[in-house]
Amino acid sequence: LFVEHALGAGQSVPVSREQAHYLFGVMRLGAGAQILVFDGQSGEWLAEVAEAGKRGGVLSVLSQTRALQMPPDLWLMFAPVKKARTDFIVEKAVEMGAARILPVQTEFTNTGRVQRARLQAHAVEAAEQCGATYVPQVAEMQRLDRVLGAWDADRQIMFCDEAQAASKPTLPAVCAPWAILIGPEGGFAEGERGRLRRMAQAHPVSLGPRILRAETAAVAALALWQQSLGD
Ligand code: SAM
Repeated sequence: LFVEHALGAGQSVPVSREQAHYLFGVMRLGAGAQILVFDGQSGEWLAEVAEAGKRGGVLSVLSQTRALQMPPDLWLMFAPVKKARTDFIVEKAVEMGAARILPVQTEFTNTGRVQRARLQAHAVEAAEQCGATYVPQVAEMQRLDRVLGAWDADRQIMFCDEAQAASKPTLPAVCAPWAILIGPEGGFAEGERGRLRRMAQAHPVSLGPRILRAETAAVAALALWQQSLGD
């Protein structure tokens, strides 16, 4: 269970109404039951239900069970697609070990805005489900040209481009922070493609001879990056 409360042995942690509904209603946990909790910063802890009510409760933190496991410094940048498919991308990015999720607006992105808080809640759920001790931050959507305009010289870009001739993807073994970039349903505009191709940090990659949906491409790219450069 994720809690927005810095954890430490002996601490009392308040349980929100929604968490109480899940823990004491759905899961039927009562006083004395033990659960694992994490705060995204200090690892995982064993806690005991001290008070269980319909509108809230209290957990008492007992001891640490796992240290914080930070994912590699990998961002997933993607042009948001329809709601459910964007939710899927966020969920899979957490499961696949992205450290930051950055929705970007490209020239052909047809989604004008994303609900950042909703996507962040999906990231929390995904971290709870997959046993991660860290929850990646979902950033506000930003324009791709602005993001590239302020790009960090050290961060490499795995530029997933369906226009790249299909060949076995190879990523340079650069021990640096990375970002994966996935385009929108309409693909990248020629101007964007040209700009990316001129950037020394951007490495154009084909994900095979077929055109993948953006959410498939995101999962494939994350798997490929983890296989080539992950720990
Ligand atoms: N509009 C494009 C078209 O019809 O040619 C397809 C865009 S695709 C649905 C969305 C994004 O997924 C692309 O911009 C790219 O980042 C990624 N993608 C899909 N298939 C890919 C492939 N075979 N190789 C590399 N990237 C791919």
